[in-house]
Order: sequence, then structure tokens, then C-alpha cells
Amino acid sequence: RSTARLAPSRPVVLCLSGHDPSGGAGLQADIEALLAQGCHAAPVVTALTVQDTVDVIDFRVLDRDWVLAQAHAVIADMPISAVKLGMLGSVEMVDTVLMIMDKLPGVPLVCDPVLRAGGGGALGKDEVGFAMRERLFAASSIATPNLPEARILAELPNGTPDECAEKLLPHIRHLLITGGHGDERDVHNRLYLRDGSQHTFTCARLPGSYHGSGCTLASTLAGRLALGQDLVSAVESALDYTWRTLRDAEQPGRGQFVPRRL
Ligand code: PLP
Repeated sequence: RSTARLAPSRPVVLCLSGHDPSGGAGLQADIEALLAQGCHAAPVVTALTVQDTVDVIDFRVLDRDWVLAQAHAVIADMPISAVKLGMLGSVEMVDTVLMIMDKLPGVPLVCDPVLRAGGGGALGKDEVGFAMRERLFAASSIATPNLPEARILAELPNGTPDECAEKLLPHIRHLLITGGHGDERDVHNRLYLRDGSQHTFTCARLPGSYHGSGCTLASTLAGRLALGQDLVSAVESALDYTWRTLRDAEQPGRGQFVPRRL
């Protein structure tokens, strides 16, 4: 078999996320969103879930050895241009991710602090979020919580985005708090940068609720960083792309809408 390369390879994004058998969220969302950006996804499974577009029924976190073995096989084989974290599911998995990142110094890391599915079902205890905040945020380029997740992470149950950001920014370089879960007429997505500056990206609120919107956003952002885009324009492109996938979303089951990513 010829190994001659006719075209340069697309940047590889290592995804450490859970599997969602409905195909709306988790690794399938990561793969689809990254393909749409012109990136190659290397999907490492952290957890298996049992769920549909309505709710989460159960989940199981994989053993550390299995996650390390998957990640190390890929890292030894191909250059990784960015890493995207989704569902980790346990405090132990937070430390497993840090062990993997030790092998990838300087590689941008996008942390989607997944604690709930779109329908509200738990995908990890709040302690997983606190461990992310205390240990993983320092290794991350940016975290992308929605407002309910930001409130859990900041331990401010009724906090405004600004109050949550003030509490979280000492832990992380940059922070994007999305506003899709609020009830304002428009959606305000707020980007807080380490240098103290802030950008607000406003878009029209779409009707309905979605399964996999956060996964789509974080993967797209990781893909844009892998392609070399600067952070602020990568965030803007990722928000725009995600909004279009929600506008074009389909309802394949009885529950939430699934973003149309391709
Ligand atoms: N990761 C996995 C494996 C999931 O199953 C889900 C939701 O069901 C999520 C992440 C988060 O989904 P969303 O992008 O809707 O926040």
C-alpha cells in the first residue's frame, strides 16, 4: 500500500467524551461538528450512557486504564492539534485527563463541564464539576459552561453570569458562559477573557429544547483552535455554526431536537 500523501492531513482533535446512543450529544456530536469544520476527530470514550432524546436512564464510566490506553494509542500515532473534553462522569476521570494532558503540553484544551444532559438528567455529581474547577481548569484554555453549569461550578445557585465569572476566572484563562438556558428574549453568550475584557455575542432565541448543543459548540471551538483561529474569532465562529445547527435541528424521537451538524 502506498503511503504517499496527496493532500495535507486535517488537524486532529482528541475528544474525551461520553457516548450517547441517541446520536444527539456526546462523541457523535463531537465527530459530526469536527467533520463540518474540516478537522479529524479522534474519539476516546470516557463513559457509556443509556439515554434517549427525552432523558438519561443510566451511565457507566470506563476504567482509567481503558481511557489511558485509548488516548495513548492515538497520541503515539498522530499529532494532536487540540483536545475537547465532554462528559467525564467521575472525579477519577478528571485526574485521568490530567495524566493525558501531561503528554500534550501546549495543546489547546476546551473544557465543556458536562454535568447534566439537555433534558436535565445527571451525567455526573456536582463534585465532578468542583474537581474540574480545582484541577482541570488550570490546564484548560477555555471552559464553556451554560449558565446552570456555571452556577453549579461557582456555587452560586442564583448567580448572574458576571457573578459566576468573577468566581470562576481565577481558576481558568478564558470562560464562555452560554445563555441558551435563560428566558431572555435574545440569547446572550458572554466571553470573559483573562485580561479582564468581555465580549457579548447575542443571537435570536430559537424555539424548542435541544440535545447536544453544548457538545456541538465546544467541539467546534476546539476544531477552530486546531485550525489556528484566534480565540475570540474561534468563539464567534463556533457560536454562529452552533446556532445554524439548532435552526436546522430535527426531532428524530419523542423528545428534544437534535442539531443538524452536516
Ligand atoms: N455528553 C454526553 C455523553 C451526553 O450524553 C450529553 C447529553 O446527553 C452531553 C454530553 C451534554 O449534552 P448537551 O450538549 O445537550 O449539553
